[in-house]
Amino acid sequence: MTVIDTHAHIVPPDMLKTLRKNSAQYGVTFTGDEQKPIVQLAGSSYIRPLPMFLTHLDQRIATMDRQGVDRQILTGWVDFSAYTMPLDLGIRFSELQNETIAAVVAGNPQRYLGAANVPLRDARSAIKVLQDAAAKYDFRAAQIATYLGPNRFLDDPSLDPFWAATQEMGTFLIFHPYDEQRPAGLHDFFLHNCIGYPLATTTAIVRMMFSGVFDRFPNLQIKVPHAGGFLPYQIERFQHAADFRPEPRSKGFKGRPVDVLKKLYYDTITFSPATLRYLIDLVGADRLMLGSDFPFEMGDPDPVASVKAVVDEAHRPAVLGGTAAKLMGCSCCV
Ligand SMILES: [Zn+2]
Repeated sequence: MTVIDTHAHIVPPDMLKTLRKNSAQYGVTFTGDEQKPIVQLAGSSYIRPLPMFLTHLDQRIATMDRQGVDRQILTGWVDFSAYTMPLDLGIRFSELQNETIAAVVAGNPQRYLGAANVPLRDARSAIKVLQDAAAKYDFRAAQIATYLGPNRFLDDPSLDPFWAATQEMGTFLIFHPYDEQRPAGLHDFFLHNCIGYPLATTTAIVRMMFSGVFDRFPNLQIKVPHAGGFLPYQIERFQHAADFRPEPRSKGFKGRPVDVLKKLYYDTITFSPATLRYLIDLVGADRLMLGSDFPFEMGDPDPVASVKAVVDEAHRPAVLGGTAAKLMGCSCCV
């Protein structure tokens, strides 16, 4: 059995090198210095230090060995989703990201699988970039940030062709929150992460639910990060709203929120055996996959132990890697 980490981030060293050399061509502005670069993407006022540990390949393998993780699914740094870039730059930026992630995978194919980034501000372009990444690099997954920009969310009707295409292709969609748009009150105390991330995830999924995306595309394969954000833990509140208020049903949603939850996948990042046990009771162990959020300090440093502490032996192989292997079309790992 192969242990697969479904929540791991990377900025490939070759991507950073190319961006530094051709920053204007890729719509990137660097400030700071070599050790602590600060990046800004065209079309965004958001400025953020690039954590250089995202680029360190040797430390990555050493950590995986220590954790007992055989393979990581490499997704980009979510701040490099680049949805607010002008479209031509966003396409180029995604293509560079996919090409350089593919090179890291090709350099160590026993340890890595790749996930694409797509220019999601435009569904047709996102489909094209995804299809190219599938054809050229055999990528079966894509990372999806939880909104497109100010007041454009993942229930935006313009994304329907993208959901249709990914359903058809069987793409494993790895959702991830970010804080390109930081809500009021979250600027202090690291709340942009502790509250903002689970909030953005919850907002994305519930908007898709109530607007009928999951009814129109019932076979999407979506993994919700950080054990579902706030959603599983407030699910009966959404049910109550759907029972007693007209708004959640205003676009034709007829189902039960908990039934939607049972069709999604989740990683195991809860920092709490009791919380993980609750999630399993709610959606079933077959919907869970090991995740660490490598290499961030908000990650689970010992994800295999977290799974073993809670998941019974019968379901353990699936949670540790079997379910992820199936979604990645990776017969060698099952
Ligand atoms: Zn993450």
